[in-house]
Amino acid sequence: MTLEEVWNAALGEIELSISKAQFNTWFKGTCILSLENDRVSIRVSNGFAKEWLENKYHLIILKSLNNLGYSVKEIRCKVEGPQEKESQKSLGIDAVSAPIPQKEISPKKEDSSSFERNNQTFSQKETPFFSQRHNQSFQSNINPRYTFENFIVGTNNELARAACLAVCEDLGSIYNPLFLYGGVGLGKTHLLQSIGNTILNQNNGKKVLYITSEKFTQELINSIKKQTVDQFKDQYSAIDLLIIDDVQFLSGREKTQNEFFHIFNTLYQQNKQIVISSDRPPKAIGTLEDRLRSRFEGGMIADINKPEFETRIAILQEKAQEKSLSLSDEIIIYIAENITSNIRELEGALNRLTAIQQFHHLSHLTLDDAKNILKELISSGKKKVVTHQDIIRNISEFYEISSEDLKQKGRKKEVATARQIAMYFMRKELNMPYTGIGRCFGGRDHTTALHAFEKIKKLIEQDEKIKKDIHHLKEKLYSIS
Ligand code: ADP
Ligand code: MG
Repeated sequence: MTLEEVWNAALGEIELSISKAQFNTWFKGTCILSLENDRVSIRVSNGFAKEWLENKYHLIILKSLNNLGYSVKEIRCKVEGPQEKESQKSLGIDAVSAPIPQKEISPKKEDSSSFERNNQTFSQKETPFFSQRHNQSFQSNINPRYTFENFIVGTNNELARAACLAVCEDLGSIYNPLFLYGGVGLGKTHLLQSIGNTILNQNNGKKVLYITSEKFTQELINSIKKQTVDQFKDQYSAIDLLIIDDVQFLSGREKTQNEFFHIFNTLYQQNKQIVISSDRPPKAIGTLEDRLRSRFEGGMIADINKPEFETRIAILQEKAQEKSLSLSDEIIIYIAENITSNIRELEGALNRLTAIQQFHHLSHLTLDDAKNILKELISSGKKKVVTHQDIIRNISEFYEISSEDLKQKGRKKEVATARQIAMYFMRKELNMPYTGIGRCFGGRDHTTALHAFEKIKKLIEQDEKIKKDIHHLKEKLYSIS
C-alpha cells in the first residue's frame, strides 16, 4: 500500500468513529507525510487541527493505523496549508478573475440528493410550509439546511443531540415527548430540524410537521375565525412527528394551550412522536397549564448550554469552510474569544467577513482587517455592563429573598447559599476584591467572601442544581431588558 492508501484506509475507519461534522472539521484535507518506525507524521492545515489531532484524536488515529497492521506509538502533525494560497497571491492571481472557490469541504459532498437540496431557497418567513418532499401530501416546514451532519458536537449540546438521534431511531417510543431547552441561538431549531430531515430522508411516508408555537397559535385563531377548528385538529392527528419550536410563546394563551393539549394527547396516545423546544425548562414557563407542564416533564428533558471555546473554534472552522472563507488561526481565535454566548452571532461574524472580503476582492484578511470589520458587532455584542447592585437585585429576585436579607442578616441555609452565590458572581464577573465584596454584605470579612467564592466554584462541579441556577442567573444578569 502506498502511504496515501494507508492514510485513506485509516481515515475511513476514523470517519466511522466520530461525527461527520467533527471529521470534516479536523480530518478533511489532512495527508500523511511519513510513517517510519513507530512514528507517523501528518500534514494538517492549521494549528488547531494539529492540537486536536495530537491531543484529542491521537488514540483514534493510533488505533486505526494499528488495525492496519502498523505499530505506531507517536503522532506528529505538521502545519502546512496557507502556502498554497500565498503562492497564488504571489503569482498575481487576482481575486476577480480567479474562479469563485467552490465549497471545498462540504459535509454532504458525496450525497447527490443533497446537491439539489442545497440549492433550494429557504424562506421561513414567507412560506410557512416550505419544504415539500418525497410523497408528503402536505408540507413539513423542514429546511434541508439543518442536519445532524453539519451540527458540531460539544459538551454543551451532546446530551440534546444524543436525545434527538435516539428519537430518530424509533419514533414515539424512546423519548416521548422530547423537550429541548436552551438560550437563544444555541442550536435548538437546528436539532429539531435535523430530526425532521432524518425522518423525511428515510422516505417511509412518515408525516412530519415543524411549526413554531406562534404559528400554531396564529393558525388556530384563523381556524376559529373560519370555523374550521375540527379540520385543524384532524390535520394534526394524522402526523407521525410533530415538532413545536419555541413553546414558551404558548405561555398565558389559554385557548391555544387547551387545543394543544388535546392534540398532544391524541398524538401521544397513538404513540406518535412529539418534540418540543423552549428557551427555558417546563418549570420555568410561567402560566403554563399544569397538565401541559406535567406532560412535558413526563418525557425526556435535555438542555443546551453555551458552547465552550473549543466548540466555538470547531463551529467557526466548519462554517468558514462552508462559506469558502479562509481565515487564519488568529482571526478564528479572536472571534471565538469575543463572541461567546451565541452561535448565531458567530455565524453573523463570518457572514460579515465573507461579504467584505468578496466586496473588496481581498485574497486574505489580516487580524487587523477582521478586528475592523467586526468592530461594531463585537463591541455591541459585548456583555452589558453589570454592577454589584445588579447582581444583588438579580439574585434576590431569583431566590425570592429580600435584598436586605441577602446583604445583612438571614442565616437560613437558602439565604446563606444565595448570598454566597452573589459573592461568587461579584468575584467571577466583576473581578471585585474580596474586601470590597465583604463590604457589600454588611462589612463581612474578606475571608468570608473568599470562602464563598471557593465553595460555590466547587459546588458548580458537584451540584447540578447550583450549576443550572448559576447558568440561569448569568443569562438573566446579562440579558438586556
Ligand atoms: P436556537 O433555535 O436555539 O435559537 P438555532 O438552531 O437557530 O438556535 O441556531 C442558530 C444558528 O447557529 C443556526 O444557523 C444553526 O445552524 C447554528 N448552530 C447552532 N448550533 C450549532 C452547532 N452545534 N453546529 C453548527 N451550527 C450550529
Ligand atoms: Mg430557534
